[in-house]
Amino acid sequence: MTTMLKSYLCGTWMEGKGTPASLVNPTTEEVVAHATTEGLDFKAGLDYARAKGGNALREMNFAQRGEMLKAMSKVLHGAREELLDLATETTGNTRSDAKFDVDGATFTLGFYARLGRELGERSILLDGDEIALAKNPRFVGRHIYTPKLGVAVHINAFNFPAWGFAEKAAVALLAGMPVMTKPATSTAVLTVRMFEILAESGCLPDGAVSLISGSAGDVLDHLTTQDVLAFTGSSNTATMLRNNANLVANSVPINVEADSLNAAILGPDVDASSETYDLFLREVVRDMTQKAGQKCTAIRRIFVPADRIESVREDLCQELSRMPVGNPLTREVKVGPLATSNQLRDVKAGLSRLQESCKTVYGDGGRGDLVDIDHDRGFFLSPVLLQAERLDESVVHADEVFGPVATMLPYGGETAELCDGVMAGNGGLVSSVYSDDVPFVGEVLTQIAAGHGRLHLASAKIADASPGPGTVMPALLHGGPGRAGGGEELGGARSLPFYMQRTAVQGSRRVLQKILDIPKGD
Ligand code: NAP
Repeated sequence: MTTMLKSYLCGTWMEGKGTPASLVNPTTEEVVAHATTEGLDFKAGLDYARAKGGNALREMNFAQRGEMLKAMSKVLHGAREELLDLATETTGNTRSDAKFDVDGATFTLGFYARLGRELGERSILLDGDEIALAKNPRFVGRHIYTPKLGVAVHINAFNFPAWGFAEKAAVALLAGMPVMTKPATSTAVLTVRMFEILAESGCLPDGAVSLISGSAGDVLDHLTTQDVLAFTGSSNTATMLRNNANLVANSVPINVEADSLNAAILGPDVDASSETYDLFLREVVRDMTQKAGQKCTAIRRIFVPADRIESVREDLCQELSRMPVGNPLTREVKVGPLATSNQLRDVKAGLSRLQESCKTVYGDGGRGDLVDIDHDRGFFLSPVLLQAERLDESVVHADEVFGPVATMLPYGGETAELCDGVMAGNGGLVSSVYSDDVPFVGEVLTQIAAGHGRLHLASAKIADASPGPGTVMPALLHGGPGRAGGGEELGGARSLPFYMQRTAVQGSRRVLQKILDIPKGD
């Protein structure tokens, strides 16, 4: 019998009613689970999280919450093999893709556990120094952060059911807010299992985490002024959520991570025999194929000097031909299927739009020769590389095709023209510059930084250390302006304020020092 996924609300596992959605193994199209949240009382779940989880977390200091995150990381890491198997068996991930998601989750929890230890035994975060407010030196002001009193609702995309849950939860829990997480329904099996493991371990206080397995129902209609919403997904859904009447009326803070047309620039200085060129080829191909290109940070636009485009195309095609597509359970396979039939449909539609004005130079938009697949089921798409005629080919800068698809664009002339091309993506999560020419890199950085949340400056000096632009670093900001949603996640201590209220406090220096536990002279 197929499992009916349960939600975890009010400290209990609950099953919804009504007609459930079917979750499908994208390799075989077999149904692996069902999910419905119809009839579940989200208001009661939120009240419980606020009262039980919120109070318990606020009684802990940063170091204690850090210990809690460490325990979460350890217990999930202890179930690593089971989680990797589940991801490969149900979500179409190759083992390497599954590691990227599951290990990324435990690593990020571990990172924020260490941050908690560093922040220490305080529960109020100070922002900046003491400010003199009058001639009388005793009258001073400070800015402080305290945890919000509500629930952090997290709505995640389908592509990272493990990391997506953990990276948001790590920050909110460390800040002192309980979490209600909603993974995308299609890949929720993995998140549900992680919750079961966490619940069985008892490493979290009652009410600290809740789970919605299926549709979000009316949860957003019950958020109040002390709650927050962090969303990852498409910009269409983000726009809808931003306009939710209750969220607007209560000024509920919303953080959005949405689409992004991430660029990779091959510098004019990089010759084909250099380490930087190898790094460029490796990282472009990894981004096109890892998680079958279903990564918000994946390279979509490849800017190449016009006089090099033919040879770069040949090299990229050769590298792509070494990436077998097929059954993700088979070790040699590097590219699994897309996550859902809708995803395959959307990617094919996006690809057709690109093909109207760009040449297809690798792949044909079909399944290709599949390894270890002897049926015609599954949502497979062999990687596709396209080539635009002109740098300003508008469709390439307008349409995010969320699959193993990228487009090469030729550039020449002024650096400013190249940077205008990159900026035509209208705001991105991360773009990369592959070059050892420092003045060129500096010029590009100055012109494109404002359009990005992160820049990957790739050179021979970091070739052996670089995980590529697609790996989100817990210590660095994740998010981006414009099309990318305007959000900011992660970034170490920089990420905590979203879950905390900044308050200016003015009064006697002595009183402030006593209450805020600031050592004299600090
Ligand atoms: P999506 O269709 O927008 O769904 C995202 C999440 O929103 C899912 O959990 C979905 O739930 C939920 N949702 C949909 N309608 C909702 C509503 N009316 N109320 C509340 N929740 C609702 O996006 P997706 O297809 O999962 O993800 C692909 C997109 O995400 C891509 O465009 C990609 O660029 C973007 N993405 C961005 C990042 C980033 O960090 N910036 C990361 C990954 C993906 P159901 O599954 O139950 O419908």
